[in-house]
Amino acid sequence: MSKRRRNVTAPVWVLSGILMAGSGLLIGRSLLDTGDAARVPGPEASVQTGPSPVLVPPQRPAQAPAASPQPRDDATLTPKAVDAGGGLVLCAGRTAQAVKPDADGTLLGHRPYAEAPSSALTEAPPGFASGSCRTMHREARAALDAMLEAARAEDPALAGAMVGLSCFRSEQYQKEVFCRKVGNGLAARARSSAPPGYSEHATGYAIDFGDRNAPGCNLATCFADTDVGRWLDANARAYGFVLSFPQGNDQGVMYEPWHWRYEAGSNASSVFAQAR
Ligand SMILES: [Zn+2]
Repeated sequence: MSKRRRNVTAPVWVLSGILMAGSGLLIGRSLLDTGDAARVPGPEASVQTGPSPVLVPPQRPAQAPAASPQPRDDATLTPKAVDAGGGLVLCAGRTAQAVKPDADGTLLGHRPYAEAPSSALTEAPPGFASGSCRTMHREARAALDAMLEAARAEDPALAGAMVGLSCFRSEQYQKEVFCRKVGNGLAARARSSAPPGYSEHATGYAIDFGDRNAPGCNLATCFADTDVGRWLDANARAYGFVLSFPQGNDQGVMYEPWHWRYEAGSNASSVFAQAR
């Protein structure tokens, strides 16, 4: 009899332990998600500033058509997984949240952008490229070449200080960037980083500029006061570049004086038609 009782109660204790562990995880996660935007670290963070060569991911292999619209786990490459309520499941496994795009297609203030086909991409200019800026759209490269040439003619030292901190990013890499710091929630994260599928960097037209003489201002507001930042503010528009996130932008994205997108070419202008 006693042996029989043990056989009955043991699974109950095991089950209780699993439930307690599970609720502990949920409590910990909800505490992490209740922070505010002020605690979000620097815009686009420091992920691209290091010399690490791993920042540009390999091209995503061709995918077979999705077999099911069911949400998947964190291995999902894109944010297109949809939950039962029609929301996009972002960063599954790190937050329990799903978000719905607005009626105009924006998600958390960011507009949807398709990833540029690899055939549209080319190498970043030598001297401007870095470990985290390797490729960009061919149209953007041509405009950047012209702009760098003008800067060189005006001030060779300044032109030499210009560096690309981030250029084309695949959707998969954007997912890694975005989901790496979602502890304060998806909306807070979206103030400084676009969700995957919604980044201008995926088009190959967006470039984050840096000043080699002021690395402390890379991806920081004080970039606006560097020599490169001031030169771009005075000249970049003449070459078709537009500051995507000026102060007080209606997307609610942090001021990013380093993030310029090229939108003057025939294809680029259609890509950003909605944004203008
Ligand atoms: Zn950027």
